[in-house]
Amino acid sequence: MAKKFFGYGDFFCSNCGERIEKGKMKCPACGAWYSEKKRYGNSSALGAGGIGWSDKIKDPRFVKYDRYYRKYSHILMCGLSILIPAIILATGDIRPDEEGITVISFIIGVLWLFGLVSLFFSGRNKPDWEGQVVEKRIEHKTRKVKSGDDYIKENYDEYIVVFRLTDGSIKEVSFKDSRTMFDYYRIDDYVHFHGKRYLSAFEKYDKSRDEILFCIKCHQMNDARNNFCSRCGCPLLKGQPSK
Ligand SMILES: [Zn+2]
Ligand SMILES: [Zn+2]
Repeated sequence: MAKKFFGYGDFFCSNCGERIEKGKMKCPACGAWYSEKKRYGNSSALGAGGIGWSDKIKDPRFVKYDRYYRKYSHILMCGLSILIPAIILATGDIRPDEEGITVISFIIGVLWLFGLVSLFFSGRNKPDWEGQVVEKRIEHKTRKVKSGDDYIKENYDEYIVVFRLTDGSIKEVSFKDSRTMFDYYRIDDYVHFHGKRYLSAFEKYDKSRDEILFCIKCHQMNDARNNFCSRCGCPLLKGQPSK
């Protein structure tokens, strides 16, 4: 059931965006082929992303995806509110007396608080901005991670891309420990941040220098020759074909 909301386990035609059964060799809606050889013909992935801002940014599928995501998050929290007490009681660590019920209520309260707060913040409109990548840096950091009953220090790298915005100000965007997103941006790349609450996404002006495109909703890496994300069916932001 949960899979239905996101389309995980399903498959979307990367040419027309229709939901289709996994394993199909040909899209019943548009006739696009999925076999390795026939899929993209002789076209190359490099350049397929095109240049310029995408005209797909107002596509209703982005709003729809966001609505499903919120609905699914609430269902997930309801499910956990039943599952967590059930597991705690079954393991026998906490007895269902007055004290036990207070502890369980507290855990569920914290779960809902965090869930609703994060949905609230991701559901706010942020201002749009445009800027150019002026610096990229990797910061070596340490964090505490739980190991058995102890906490140990773990080293990790934080990937930061620095933009100079059109008003001259500097904006640092941290991709946390995600190297792929960091690598996607090059010095001098011109980028638009779409701040609308159902988007909250970065778009590169020139997509012709990459062989991949990130889906702005589920962050799946797609071949630049695709028009739609094969995992969630959202349109991929592409420019006009180069040359
Ligand atoms: Zn199709
Ligand atoms: Zn996607």
